[in-house]
Amino acid sequence: MNNQQLAAEIHQLLVDKYGPPTWRSHLSPVGELVSTILSQNTNDVNRDIAYNTLLERFPTWEEIRDAEEKKILPLIKTAGLANQKGPAIQNALKMITEERGQIELDFLKGMSSQEASEWLINLKGVGPKTASIVLLFSLDMPAFPVDTHVYRITGRVGIRPENMSAAKAHIYLAEQFEPETYYPVHLNIIRLGREVCKARQPLCQECPLTQICEYYANQNQ
Ligand code: SF4
Repeated sequence: MNNQQLAAEIHQLLVDKYGPPTWRSHLSPVGELVSTILSQNTNDVNRDIAYNTLLERFPTWEEIRDAEEKKILPLIKTAGLANQKGPAIQNALKMITEERGQIELDFLKGMSSQEASEWLINLKGVGPKTASIVLLFSLDMPAFPVDTHVYRITGRVGIRPENMSAAKAHIYLAEQFEPETYYPVHLNIIRLGREVCKARQPLCQECPLTQICEYYANQNQ
């Protein structure tokens, strides 16, 4: 089985177990960018509390950009790492303003996925995962976000070189999976990672991927 066939098999086995994930309504591209910065190292609930609290106090991106940093930090503390995330959000909003004259990212739709990703990564504090999430979730562009679950599971299954960095894995994995599967694969792998293929102790006996997983094969030689 080559890697593209393996990718198709992973997608199919996960859909067989979890079904196709429903498309949740997403934020504007700038909203998705801010929300994704807030999501680092926390869960969805705390991310959303921080996001909503921030927007309740400062309802426009311009107000958030121009607010005193010390007024932003308490609003997002639920998401943790406020001292890093607050400046990262304000820097990104300032850089978008400098580049575009306004705070919007819809123009990215006119670029290739690769160009749009590079544009976002040039914003200080934005990495390939955040860029891919903005493109895939809010602009419906073909990008393959590699978060901690996707990175771990693709390594265990063996669909990417074991020592490949997460930054390189974004590009590599995007070439293995079909673009129309990026969204369901991303969400279903995250679910598998949370419920079954856990970081410390994978629950292989509950996993739909045992027949194609290198880690499982090595454990059961
Ligand atoms: S078989 Fe085990 S190691 Fe492989 S993906 Fe499933 S849970 Fe993870």
